[in-house]
Amino acid sequence: DAAIEIKNLQKTYKASRKAAAKNALKGVDLVVPRGSIFGLLGPNGAGKSTMINILAGLVNKSSGSAKICGYDIETQTRQARASIGIVPQEITMDVFFTPYQALEIQAGYYGVPKSQRRTEEILEALGLLDKRDAYVRQLSGGMKRRLLIAKALVHNPPVLILDEPTAGVDIELRRQLWTYVKELHRRGTTIILTTHYLEEAEALCDQIAIIHNGEITANESKTALLSRL
Ligand code: ADP
Ligand code: ADP
Repeated sequence: DAAIEIKNLQKTYKASRKAAAKNALKGVDLVVPRGSIFGLLGPNGAGKSTMINILAGLVNKSSGSAKICGYDIETQTRQARASIGIVPQEITMDVFFTPYQALEIQAGYYGVPKSQRRTEEILEALGLLDKRDAYVRQLSGGMKRRLLIAKALVHNPPVLILDEPTAGVDIELRRQLWTYVKELHRRGTTIILTTHYLEEAEALCDQIAIIHNGEITANESKTALLSRL
């Protein structure tokens, strides 16, 4: 099975008081092979978050289908959700907890039995072990971002999706985050990230799809894509 297999996925947001109706995904087909670092590149408003939020179960699709590691998000929701970790864009965090507590709480949400938790191992992998008992509000911006990644890993998902992992961070921190993402990939996690920085897709990804106005306009290896730009 592919890590992600999306077929003719469509999303229309209904009009609300805040926004007009919007056809955000217009029949997207996409396959993300296992073991890849896959970049979904596109400008603001292209439909990247909508796609991720559908995979995460946070937004309902209008039509089409999506599978995660072979599990249909609609009919095998529990298995599909267990197969992905999502790193959200914004840093919304429980600032009065410590990193250790934050991971334990997250593991609780996912129903990971105490005996199977890998809290210290995950903190170590993200370079946070020496901060395990600090308060989250005392962490630097980079550490908070790494803690967000750590939280997405508590249930040991084979697929990790990062939504604009380095939006609004300086170049030094961006490079640091890239190092951690590459290391997770090296250890066997399939990585999907959205970005509007070509440079980021270029630095990290082996395959890049371009989404524009709710449609995939290119999907190829990094080398093939860059040779055309
Ligand atoms: P991206 O993540 O690529 O910036 P989004 O998926 O957030 O794009 O948005 C795609 C389009 O859908 C945009 O035009 C956005 O304004 C619109 N949109 C997103 N969420 C909603 C919503 N809840 N209601 C109406 N329109 C929305
Ligand atoms: P339900 O299906 O009953 O909503 P969930 O397991 O989806 O139960 O969520 C239970 C609680 O855990 C919710 O309050 C939700 O906010 C939180 N939760 C679940 N998954 C996550 C996650 N990935 N990140 C943060 N909070 C989560």
